[in-house]
Amino acid sequence: MSDDRPDANHVVSKTTPRLAIEIVTLFPEVFAPFLQASLLGKAVASGLIAVATTNPRDFAPGRHRQVDDSPYGGGPGMVLRPDPVAAAIDDAENRRGRAHRLLLSPSGRLFDQRCAADLAARGRIMLICGRYEGVDERIAQLYADESVSIGDYVLAGGEVAAAVIIEATARLVPGVLGCGESVVEESFAAGRLEFSQWTRPPLFRGLGVPEVLLSGNHAEVARWRRREALRRTMSHRPDLIDRHPLTEEERAMLAELDES
Ligand code: SAH
Repeated sequence: MSDDRPDANHVVSKTTPRLAIEIVTLFPEVFAPFLQASLLGKAVASGLIAVATTNPRDFAPGRHRQVDDSPYGGGPGMVLRPDPVAAAIDDAENRRGRAHRLLLSPSGRLFDQRCAADLAARGRIMLICGRYEGVDERIAQLYADESVSIGDYVLAGGEVAAAVIIEATARLVPGVLGCGESVVEESFAAGRLEFSQWTRPPLFRGLGVPEVLLSGNHAEVARWRRREALRRTMSHRPDLIDRHPLTEEERAMLAELDES
């Protein structure tokens, strides 16, 4: 479905967002274009998703509004002070209410599709973005309900990580995706990667489309897709198979895959 077509699911009162997102960030400008584009932009414009940013710099003391300082114990770089971050969190919550607070950190628990589903059901979440060498540990201990990492690499700040979490979470909020799109049958939904997707033209640079997808036999298509999902998961993400053991049907499919 095209992004700009009106959709009955999106007619929601401006005063009752299904998900309110608070972002605590030194760089709120990073989020503007991202929150305006595509289906997320539409959900924000309709009030289905509400987003507010609060900048710790507005709560920093002194003429220079300094938010960072050198680490106790020495070492390179700067650390975000806890006081302006705490003041920003308190201000946001005094205005709009308590949120489930996530601190973005490479040392946090790994974010995955299940976390996204949990967050989508929470109603109000807060994403606290670090910068520089990170945030004084007292924010994690006194304020964060959890610390989350989006992967085993180090970003320069929490903003892009927050955007990842917002996008993965918002699309699970009922009404955000167009009615034609499903979140049930996609990658990770049942511990498997999604099957491969194909569309027109039927022949592209000499490569055709799997015959079964053109057959009109829905049961056969569904079975082919489950087998394809299994094949891809075995090949790209065997760790998912370890965590979600093979079903009876998948065992049979494996034998078929071995033969082909
Ligand atoms: N010195 C820290 C890295 C700080 S990176 C360390 O070695 O752990 C600065 C900020 O970027 C962090 O405070 C965090 O908010 C954000 N960040 C960096 N990598 C991230 C990741 N993989 N997931 C989530 N947030 C991340």
